Amino acid sequence: MTRLVELRSDTFTLPTESMRRAMAAAEVGDDVWDEHPTIHRLQERAAEIVGKEGALFVPSGTMGNLCALLSHTEPGQEVLVEGESHIFHSEVAGASVVGGLQLRPLETPDGRLQPEQVRAAIREPDIHQPPTGLLCLENTHNRRGGTCLSSAQTQALSDVAHRAGFPVHLDGARVFNAAVALGVDVRELTGPVDSVMFCLSKGLSAPVGSMLAGKRDFIERARRARKMLGGGMRQAGVLAAAGLCSLNEMVARLAEDHANARRLVLGLDGAPGLHIDLERVETNMVFADLQSPL
Ligand SMILES: *Cc1c(COP(=O)(O)O)cnc(C)c1O
Repeated sequence: MTRLVELRSDTFTLPTESMRRAMAAAEVGDDVWDEHPTIHRLQERAAEIVGKEGALFVPSGTMGNLCALLSHTEPGQEVLVEGESHIFHSEVAGASVVGGLQLRPLETPDGRLQPEQVRAAIREPDIHQPPTGLLCLENTHNRRGGTCLSSAQTQALSDVAHRAGFPVHLDGARVFNAAVALGVDVRELTGPVDSVMFCLSKGLSAPVGSMLAGKRDFIERARRARKMLGGGMRQAGVLAAAGLCSLNEMVARLAEDHANARRLVLGLDGAPGLHIDLERVETNMVFADLQSPL
């Protein structure tokens, strides 16, 4: 029998058998009332894994990032983002529409911002200029092919922001891929930043959901933002149970994805009409340029 393997995106990963069993058996409550044992367990586990005081379960990574932006900033501020970042390209300008924020894209060849570049983009106190309110990082970097930001790079970039007096949010949709590829505890990548969002529904197989983690007061503000955006959920423990499986059972398996991506690249290398930048394949993504035979 032919088996089709869906390689377009790690968002196609399906719930595992053990996930489906956990979902069926999940204890539920009402999470808008903050009375939901399974969601509390997921939030505590997520906070512990990334080394933050608290975490919030959100329906999507896009909502998690927007809740973070709303909770860190005030309308009229400028947010520094990488030029190909998901927040800039793929989140429907939510930061501007809902948050009243100006996004300032900084260009890089590989998704890795440089501390100098960030320092140079910080606004001077000037009545004409929007004050810089936040720096956003992305690890791994989606549109740059899954490239990783090391803990030293994350620390250096965060230091620039913190010295200038504003916080750092990490769009860590695939931060576990970065940790696995770099061979470090994920806390080395999340420790320097003030907040981190990561997805359960990408390579980790959960059907729905992302986590936003940070300090306790930040999470309280994010909880309000989530409610405002329509992301308050009721008996969502059936989803949180899947998320717990993602964290407890699936993170370790990302190394298999990376090995498979590597295998695919080596197999495709040299195929006529295909150009793949081998250097760029650091994690689970393989991007190929289709060249015309003419
Ligand atoms: C997928 C993704 C998101 C958003 O997640 P959704 O759950 O699809 O809203 C945010 N950032 C990055 C880098 C992503 O790849």
